[in-house]
Amino acid sequence: MEIRQLDQQYIAGTYKRVPLTLCKGHGAYVTDEQGRDYIDLGSGIAVNTFGVADPGWVEAVTAQLNQLQHTSNYYYTEPMARLAATLCERTGMSKVFFSNSGAEANECAIKAARKYSSDRYGSGRSTIITLQDSFHGRTVTTLSATGQDSLHTHFGPFTQGFAHVPAGDREALVKAADDSCCAVMLELIQGEGGVHVLDAEYVEFVRRLAKERDLLVIVDEVQTGNGRTGRLYAHMHYGFRPDICSTAKGLAGGLPLGATMFNEKTQEVLTPGTHGSTFGGNPVCAAGALHVLSRLDDMFLEEVAQKGRYIREQLEGLSAVEEVTGLGLMIGLRLKKDLAKTVEGCREKGVLVLTAHDKLRLLPPLNIPFEVLKEAVDIIKEVIE
Ligand SMILES: *Cc1c(COP(=O)(O)O)cnc(C)c1O
Repeated sequence: MEIRQLDQQYIAGTYKRVPLTLCKGHGAYVTDEQGRDYIDLGSGIAVNTFGVADPGWVEAVTAQLNQLQHTSNYYYTEPMARLAATLCERTGMSKVFFSNSGAEANECAIKAARKYSSDRYGSGRSTIITLQDSFHGRTVTTLSATGQDSLHTHFGPFTQGFAHVPAGDREALVKAADDSCCAVMLELIQGEGGVHVLDAEYVEFVRRLAKERDLLVIVDEVQTGNGRTGRLYAHMHYGFRPDICSTAKGLAGGLPLGATMFNEKTQEVLTPGTHGSTFGGNPVCAAGALHVLSRLDDMFLEEVAQKGRYIREQLEGLSAVEEVTGLGLMIGLRLKKDLAKTVEGCREKGVLVLTAHDKLRLLPPLNIPFEVLKEAVDIIKEVIE
């Protein structure tokens, strides 16, 4: 049977797929079953940090695969230990818990925030404030955390203890931050919600209020982390370290890995038996992540920022472009044109792009060569003009 028929017949119908079957790729290019190459400005939703089949990454991953693929967390393994040390050295955080996805990294953050509060203050202080238009995952609890009412259907009862406030609304935040709260959780750049960059002064306000009321600040860097915004983590643009920071997507460059990082205040919260994961910190994924982080040095990150500025300069001010948002290689475009037709038009001309809410979204591989990026941006301009 045709691949698309098999998929439609046997795969649960959760995804509205693009009519394209991808077979392989190299660098910023992916190839369909007819052998046609596309420039991929989505990177598997910010996952393929160095594009497809990057030689250095493949070597690091296969070397580990040939040694040991999995052990369970009963045993010590080198890649996981070194990866945790590297993450802490590079961020100033103190400890890491590894899982397999963004939702799991956030689940761990939520559990730890609630335990921090119950250890200190006893029960009744469990509410976590999150922002409207946020996205924190698809498990029942991370869906509850997610501030999008359209996602709060079908699966009730949802997990109690989340209060959603509009991003930027200080009054609503102050009002929500009552005695029942233990934490504020936010994306510094809302990804799925439409590539919305939070205002630095608002974030400073959140931090001050959190400090006053001993609320933990949890930053969800599942999408913004690992070099995507031109700094290793987006909180570095804002000049602070969160109490808890979750990440996943691009961390292992294409393998499933989530990480929840704790600072000096929260590092002792999780104790034996309070949390765990069978696959979490798997040696192959950890080896991939170690390789990714080893290449995200200052020079590389400066190039990411430069490429982001290039895209912005090229697209800002075009008559069909209402607004360009984002940071580094995480970019949103509000167009005065039909979004679906634009995406399709780009695909027909050989460029794959994403959307987020009402915006066109670009998340190219961080190492996309300048010539390839230029070619892709020229095609986007041609399609939208
Ligand atoms: C993608 C995403 C998640 C969910 O990650 P999964 O790996 O799909 O579970 C959570 N938070 C943010 C900010 C994301 O972008």
